[in-house]
Amino acid sequence: MSLASQDNRQSFKRLVVVSNRLPIVLTRNPEGDWEIEPGRGGLVTAMAPVLRNRGGLWIGWPGTPGELDLSEALDAASRDVGYRLRPVALTEDEIDGFYYGFSNEIVWPLFHDLQSRCNFDPGYWRTYCQVNRKFVETIAENTEPGDYLWIHDYHLMLVAPGLRELGFNQNIGFFLHIPFPPLDLFVKMPWRFQLLRAMLDYDMIGFQTSRDRRNFIQCIRALIKDVETEGRGRVLLIKAGGREIRAGVFPIGIDYKAYELTARSAEVADAAWHIHEGLPHRQIILGVDRLDYSKGIPLRLEAFGTALARYPDLKQNVSLVQVVVPSRENIPEYQLLRTEIEQTVSQINGEFTQAGWIPIHYIFRTLDRTELLAHYRTAEIGLVTPLKDGMNLVAKEYCACSLEENCVLILSEFAGAAAQLQRGAILVNPYDIEGVANAIYQAFRMTPAERRLRMRRLRQSIRKQDIFWWVDSFLHAAISTHLGSFPVLEDYQPQVMMRKHPQQPE
Ligand code: UDP
Repeated sequence: MSLASQDNRQSFKRLVVVSNRLPIVLTRNPEGDWEIEPGRGGLVTAMAPVLRNRGGLWIGWPGTPGELDLSEALDAASRDVGYRLRPVALTEDEIDGFYYGFSNEIVWPLFHDLQSRCNFDPGYWRTYCQVNRKFVETIAENTEPGDYLWIHDYHLMLVAPGLRELGFNQNIGFFLHIPFPPLDLFVKMPWRFQLLRAMLDYDMIGFQTSRDRRNFIQCIRALIKDVETEGRGRVLLIKAGGREIRAGVFPIGIDYKAYELTARSAEVADAAWHIHEGLPHRQIILGVDRLDYSKGIPLRLEAFGTALARYPDLKQNVSLVQVVVPSRENIPEYQLLRTEIEQTVSQINGEFTQAGWIPIHYIFRTLDRTELLAHYRTAEIGLVTPLKDGMNLVAKEYCACSLEENCVLILSEFAGAAAQLQRGAILVNPYDIEGVANAIYQAFRMTPAERRLRMRRLRQSIRKQDIFWWVDSFLHAAISTHLGSFPVLEDYQPQVMMRKHPQQPE
């Protein structure tokens, strides 16, 4: 019997997902009514399809500060998305200290190996503890025995000890979507012992890559007394403080079939054709990133400029379309980053633009799904060069939409996706500007036969380890239960994800 299936058999009736944000965005329209839009980001894409018809529950912050009366809007949203939504109300101060502060000015940079960007403000830690406590209270009020609790990500590392204090002895899972740093970096965290002990209160801890898990094991061995580990492979057993904790490696996937199917639609095909018609007789190189310093956008732009300078036949024959999705704009570092990106784009365009050809087309906004998939489908080269990334779903989505298999993926070796996609992608060190420039040229010159061979490999792997595989693997390892074992509601009626806005025709 494998480690994954020992001692954890129990029958669970319902899946409860807990994450920082609910998978919706609530905004007030000019009439003062709440409007609901689907949220964005990897986790939403990942979890929504697996909760939708199983009576599941999602607990999280609704995205708007204050104690608001959201019950009606959330009930309507719950009906639309096909699972219940329960809010954790947060004040402006809590959002500042917990979300912008501890999560995004301490954990995010440290766990992405960017310690110099950390702001170790002790006040942030206190608010992080307080907000995690609020989540614990909402979970306690809304769950019952028979629920499997799956807590997500770095915002909520302290939820398990909070629940244990309240006497919860049921099985709790945790998945870390971002990387886990090596010991030398993690020891800089002023609250390192509290965080590690808290993580050991979960029963299953999932990581994106074996490197992340190795780093975690190294940290607990160095910082926690009497830790033992057993086993090898996808799931290991950790013995610490009289408890047994599983630590698994589950690279998150995408809903491959949905991407492929939508990319095939006439709407996306038309939009893709229009994009290429606007940029004719050249290969499109595509970058799609949230505004974040971990994504390596300025270095990537420099590498593109270097490629243009080194390889003159790229001129007129390639264009880089760089999409930057606004994010965390309240944090000064992010505002500075935006300015740096925009200056670099201007510099390169100023230096290289010729009549009828602009090297970089820069888009600073969120694309709708059709536009995004059209860009994926039509771009000949996907350029994904984060300095560090938990996984990077854009890389996988790009391949899923490359229907003609005539495209090339250039991928940072520091993206979690590199472990899985190394056999098909051109791997690069994003800090090596000349190396990335050479990779751009290699991709530009790659023969159709090699492109097809590599892209086929990439797509096979992404199709096999899709989002359903990810959920299933985690749940099987955590509670010996497959996704299909959570009961489907008999009266389930599929509904559209998006609630119609009042001004839209029915
Ligand atoms: N994305 C989006 N709209 C856009 C650009 C990107 O919804 O205009 C989505 C994209 O489809 C992907 C996610 O944002 O699912 C980004 O996930 P990734 O893992 O690449 O990076 P993260 O932003 O989570 O760090």
